This record gives sequence, structure tokens and C-alpha cells, in this order.
Amino acid sequence: MDDWKKILADSIVKPEDLAALFGLDEKEIDAIVGDYPMRITPTVLSTIKEKGDAIWKQVVPDPLEMADFDAPDDPLEEDTMSPVPHLVHRYPDRALLMVTNQCPIYCRFCTRKRLVGKPGFLKKGELDRAIAYLREHTEVRDVILSGGDPLLLPDHLMERILKALRTIPHLELIRLGSRVPGTLPQRITPKLCEIVKKYHPIYMNLHFNHPDELTPEVKAACAMLADAGVPLGAQTVLLKGVNDDPDVMKRLMQQLLLARVKPYYLYQADLTKGTNHFRTTVETGMHIIRSLQGHTSGMAVPHFVIDAPGGGGKIPILPPDYLMHLDEDGAVLKNYENKTFHYPQPAGGNGRELPMVGARHAGGSPPARTGCRDDEHGGCIDR
Ligand SMILES: *Cc1c(COP(=O)(O)O)cnc(C)c1O
Ligand code: SF4
Repeated sequence: MDDWKKILADSIVKPEDLAALFGLDEKEIDAIVGDYPMRITPTVLSTIKEKGDAIWKQVVPDPLEMADFDAPDDPLEEDTMSPVPHLVHRYPDRALLMVTNQCPIYCRFCTRKRLVGKPGFLKKGELDRAIAYLREHTEVRDVILSGGDPLLLPDHLMERILKALRTIPHLELIRLGSRVPGTLPQRITPKLCEIVKKYHPIYMNLHFNHPDELTPEVKAACAMLADAGVPLGAQTVLLKGVNDDPDVMKRLMQQLLLARVKPYYLYQADLTKGTNHFRTTVETGMHIIRSLQGHTSGMAVPHFVIDAPGGGGKIPILPPDYLMHLDEDGAVLKNYENKTFHYPQPAGGNGRELPMVGARHAGGSPPARTGCRDDEHGGCIDR
């Protein structure tokens, strides 16, 4: 057996074992048993400093999960947007393929809580059907392998999937979403890197929520992937009591850059049943973005997005006061120090104004892009 499989098998899955490790009594054990699976890898266990801290909250069941009755199981309508099982086709040119429902850890706030960790996920022939769909749909140029966690697939299956995808000429990009490098870094082996390298361009978006997750082993795993030529991004979920704090978030983003991982998305928590206790206000996320932009490397600032309930996709949210006003004359802008600036429009316009020009800006769209036209280099150099 591969080392990483043994290490994964050594994870904590029984509440009794967790209770024994942390000296909890029986009543507390009863409270943490719920309907959803638990798994805590040795790497993650070693980063829990005390009961109830930011790592604990992400992986240890909470009785509140079972008190969340009315919320939807599938708020993003992934199941209704699946033309074939396990393939979500929401956007015109890209699709998301769930290749497993197993994960190194079971995040308590998971959007796919309805399906992760349960037995009998991929049935015979389903993967072939999904790949056949991608082959037929020539408009898809970007496929995201997700789950569950695709990096838990054994090497031979990973290779088989990548190889099959690379026989589809219109598929330009293959992306993987994974929490493995941050929770089971031993799985990032030279052999895996050799496999991945053969099928470039492959991008990976790694899931990280707290700076304590970036241990030396985790950073080494990220370095192996980066050395294999994989551009690494990070996806972070904004979570109450875990990272809903500008200082924690700034440390996380800076640590990610040190690990050669570029922050990509910061997600507002979804409405998924059993996860309501993690939700924060939308203002919390905007406040965090304001505390990053201009105050640290621009590379450290992710896009803050809400994945729209009902399946509308990811919608970017910026604090509305960056673009205080926009009309034919110009833009009134507020910088990171709350100072106000004016950017004049070109005289007479250029006939290519976006529909919102002239209307009072309602907030939400990225200001620099609104004014970003090819004859106005001054407005766009740093984007
Ligand atoms: C997030 C997501 C994508 C990818 O979105 P990008 O903004 O291109 O990263 C594609 N399909 C589904 C269903 C998604 O949830
Ligand atoms: S690793 Fe991702 S898919 Fe798996 S439980 Fe965590 S959030 Fe969900």
C-alpha cells in the first residue's frame, strides 16, 4: 500500500477516538455524533491546538449541524444542472466533473454535504458517460475535476481520467479543486507529479481557510506541484469563528503567496443544510477585502464571490464605495486610505460605453474594468 493511503487510514473517524485524544467526557461525545461523516487526517489533527479552535471547527461535528432543518441540500442547484450524473454544466464554456465523493477530511461547512463521504457514488459507466458528454460538447474548453477530492484517486485512475480528457481536442484547460495538499500532503508524491506533468496545462485550486494550515509539510507539497509546472490558486470559504477576521485573513493570504499559491476566490458561505452556523454577513467579506486591497500585495487579494442560490453562478462583490460615482464626465473613486480621486473620461466618449455609464453606480462591479478600454492605458496598467 502507498504510504499516503496508510496515513489516510490512520485518520480519526470515530468520535470516541477524538474524545479520548482530547479528554472529553461521554456527554460531549454524544453531542458531536451527527448524520454526516467525520475524518481528520494526522496532519490536520496535529494543527488543532485546542478544542474549539479554527481547525477544530472545520472538521469536528457540531450539534448545530442537526438543528438546521429548513435549509436546502443543494442550494446551487447542481443536481438539476447535471445533464449526466456527476457533471455540472452551468457556464457556457466550462463544466465541473465530480470524480469521487471521498475527501481527506470532511469539512463541516461543505456545499456538497449531501453527497460527500457516502458509499456508492460513481456507478459503473458513469465516468465514461460524463467524458462522452464532454467530447460531444465542443463548446466546453475548461473542465474542473472536483468531488469530493480528485487527488484521493489512486494514480492509475487519475492517469486514466487525464489521458481520456486529453483525447478531447476542444478541452483546453484541465483544473483540479483539492484540499489534499493542505490536509494529506504525503499524497503529493514524485509519481503523482510525473503523471500530472504529462497533461499540461493543468491548474489546481487548493482549498485553504486558515494560516495554521500552512505547515512546513504542506508548503513542501505545494512546492512539488509548483515545480511540476502546476499554477496553484487558493479557494477560501469565509467562515464564522474560523477566518472572519481581517488579521487572520491577511496572514492566510500572505502565507499562501509564500507557498507559491495565488489566492483566487474567497467565497461567501452557501446556504447548504447543516452549515448555517458558519455563515457571516456579506459586509464581513467586503470589510476583509477592504482590509487587504492596498494594505498588502495585490497578489494576496482574492475575488470575493457569492455563488448565487438557485444556480446563478459566482458573482463578484466589491465594497461599493471604491467607485463612488460614474458619469460621462468621469469616475469618483475612493482609495484604500479613504481619500477621494477623480478620473476624467475621454472628451466626447469613444462610443463604446458600457450600459451602466451615465447611471448612478449601484455597487458591485469592479471599477477598474468598467473604465478599462484599450485607449486608456492609464486606468489599467496594474490589473
Ligand atoms: C465554480 C464553478 C466553475 C468555475 O468557475 P470559474 O469562475 O471559471 O472558476 C464551473 N462550473 C461550476 C459548476 C462551478 O461551480
Ligand atoms: S474537501 Fe471540499 S468537497 Fe470535501 S468536504 Fe471539504 S469542502 Fe467538501
